[in-house]
Amino acid sequence: MDILTFKPELGHPDIQQRILKSIKNQRFPHAYLFYGKEGTGKEAFAIEIAKLLNCEKGPLFICDSCAQCIKIGKLEHPDIKFIFPTPSEKQVKPEDIADVLKDKAQNPYKRTAFPGKNTFISINTIRELKYEAKFKLYEGKKKVFIISEADEMRPEASNALLKILEEPPANLMLILITSRIHRILPTIRSRSQLIHFPRLEGDEILRIIRRYSEEQPANLSRVIRLALGNIKLAFDFIEEEVLEKRNQAVEFLRRAVMIEKSHELMNHIQMLTSLKDRRHMVLVLFFLLTWFQDTFHVKIQPDELPDLINSDLESNIRAFVEAYPKANYQNLVAATQSAISALEDARNLNPTLIFSDLSIKLNRNIKNP
Ligand SMILES: [Zn+2]
Repeated sequence: MDILTFKPELGHPDIQQRILKSIKNQRFPHAYLFYGKEGTGKEAFAIEIAKLLNCEKGPLFICDSCAQCIKIGKLEHPDIKFIFPTPSEKQVKPEDIADVLKDKAQNPYKRTAFPGKNTFISINTIRELKYEAKFKLYEGKKKVFIISEADEMRPEASNALLKILEEPPANLMLILITSRIHRILPTIRSRSQLIHFPRLEGDEILRIIRRYSEEQPANLSRVIRLALGNIKLAFDFIEEEVLEKRNQAVEFLRRAVMIEKSHELMNHIQMLTSLKDRRHMVLVLFFLLTWFQDTFHVKIQPDELPDLINSDLESNIRAFVEAYPKANYQNLVAATQSAISALEDARNLNPTLIFSDLSIKLNRNIKNP
């Protein structure tokens, strides 16, 4: 019988099959570009490919118990590199980066994050890779360099990477990963084999969380619901107090509606932005989006038993829809999304301004659209 998957619990059986087929036919590309929405398991998948290519019992099998598999699983294999955006050298210690990498090895579905700091992939990092690529294999069968969030490469880093792609060493496989493929240079895209990762199913997410999470949060089904199929977000929610952030979003909305009490609104904005943690701020706005999604849902189908994301807040959601019959949900969503993009852009230096501006837009589009 033909082997169809190399690791069933990894999900994405179609992609697994495609990879196995290319190994059998010896038609492996020099570079893959994994793309698709955030939280679809691309990084975990890339690490398993590194095992697949190096397992002592391979090449169509991962034993997870040989020296190669174990070292790759710990992200400690000398032939395997896992690159991700980091703060500038002045802003971070090497041991902090090592800690993040260790966390990643323990749970490859988790976010690699440095809260409150701007991160990117520097030209020095890519130069090191280029240098490493020339060496013979240390102990594996194939070098695998995984570049996570490849869209965070500075332009000069992208150009250096392009040089590797133009003359790829035979013993090297590059796996580039992005959830924003439009930000990848077309010349890099055209030299890579593209693989699209669709969303994981709810039950796949549940299984992954059970496997990697020590304690099962009591509100697990709510966490999965709120994460909207994004496993990375689901782990964010498990680690951080998710419902607390949602409360902050609802509170922000409440105060934006009563904008005339401006000091209350400003105090809340101050609280949201004082930690300088943009990830936190984005999450709060993300919950605001789920709120608008739910209110819109109730508005267009008021009599149906709705399948709400925030189903535990159904009565509040219904009250909101009744109180503000003229609310323009399209504009509310657009304003919130543009605030999220502004927060995600490191060049935008003033989160307080972004929140104040948003509260004015929310107020207008809820009360007097
Ligand atoms: Zn093995």
